[in-house]
Amino acid sequence: MLLIGGGLAFFVSLLCFVPIIIIDASVGDSNPLYNLHRGCVEYCEKTGCVGDKCFQHCRFSSDGVSVDGPWYMQEPLYLRWKHWDCQTDCRYHCMLDTERDRQMDGHGPVKYHGKWPFKRAFGIQEPVSVAFSALNLAMQFHGWLSFFILLYYKLPQSPQNRKPYYEFSGLWHIYGLVAMNAWFWSAVFHSRDVDYTEKLDYSSAVALLGYSFTLAILRTFNVRGEAARVMVAAPLLAFVTTHILYLNCYKLDYGMNMVVCVAMGIAQLLLWAVWAGVTRHPSRWKLWTVVVGSGLAMLLEIYDFPPYKGYIDAHAIWHASTIPLTFLWWSFIKDDAEYRTSILLKKVK
Ligand SMILES: [Zn+2]
Repeated sequence: MLLIGGGLAFFVSLLCFVPIIIIDASVGDSNPLYNLHRGCVEYCEKTGCVGDKCFQHCRFSSDGVSVDGPWYMQEPLYLRWKHWDCQTDCRYHCMLDTERDRQMDGHGPVKYHGKWPFKRAFGIQEPVSVAFSALNLAMQFHGWLSFFILLYYKLPQSPQNRKPYYEFSGLWHIYGLVAMNAWFWSAVFHSRDVDYTEKLDYSSAVALLGYSFTLAILRTFNVRGEAARVMVAAPLLAFVTTHILYLNCYKLDYGMNMVVCVAMGIAQLLLWAVWAGVTRHPSRWKLWTVVVGSGLAMLLEIYDFPPYKGYIDAHAIWHASTIPLTFLWWSFIKDDAEYRTSILLKKVK
C-alpha cells in the first residue's frame, strides 16, 4: 500500500531531483587529470584551439567584440551565444582529449563539470536522453489526447451543462500541459546545458511536482467544491511559485531544491498510500505496476554508471523507463474518469 504512493511520488519527484545527483557527484573535478583538463579549457577559451582543432566561436577581440563578421552580428545576444558555444566546445573537446589520455593509462571515465563524458550527435550533448525526453513528451500528449477523446466523445455528458461528469477533468488537462512542458524543457536541457536551459528544466520539474502534489490532495480527498479547491491549492501553488522564483532570481540552491522536492514527493507518497487503502478502485493493479516500475527505475539513479559507448547512461535509461509508466499512468486516469462517471450516473438514475 505504501509502495503505491511511494512509486508515484518517486516517479514524479525523480524528475525534480535527478539533475542534483548528477551535479553533486563530480569525480572528475577532484581528479589530478582534471587540472590538466581545466588548463586545457582555459587555454582553449583564450586561443580558441584544442590541439589542432580550432573553433570560430572563440574568436573575440580584447574588448569582447567579435573580430569577424558584419556589425549586425555583433549584437550582445549573439555574443552571448558565441561565448556559450565557445565554452561548451572547449569543454567538450578538452574532455575528449582528457578521456583519451585516461583510457590510454587504463582508467575508466570520470565526470566533468558534473556530467559524464557523453559523445555528441548532431551537436546534441546527450542525444539518447533527448530522444527519450521527446518520447516521454509524445507519450504525455498521447495520454492526454486519448483522455480528452474519452471524456468528450465516448463518455456521456451531463445534460444540464454539457460537461463531462468526471469532476477532475479540468485538473488532469492542466496536469497534461504541465507534464508536457516539463518534458519539453528536459529535452532542451539535455540538448544543451547552459544556465538558462538548466533553470527552465528545474523550474518546469518543480512546477510538475508541485502541481501533481496539489492534484494528489484534491483527488485523494475528493475535493469537489470550487471554494474548497482554491483554499487547498492557493497556499501550495504560492509556495511552489516562490520556490521557483527563488531558484531563478536568487540562487539555484541544489541542496535546498532537493529538500523541497523530497518533501513534496513524500507527502504525495503518504496521500496515495492512504487513498489506495481506503478506495475500492477497479484499476489498482495499474497503480501497482507504476509503483514497481518506478521502484526499479529509482535503482538506476542510485547505481549511476558512465555512458555505455559514450551514449547510454543510467539517467537516459531512467528517462526510457518512464515512457511505459506514463502510458499506464494515463490509462489509470482514464479508468478513474470512467469509474467516477459510472458512479455518478448510478446516482442520477
Ligand atoms: Zn533528464
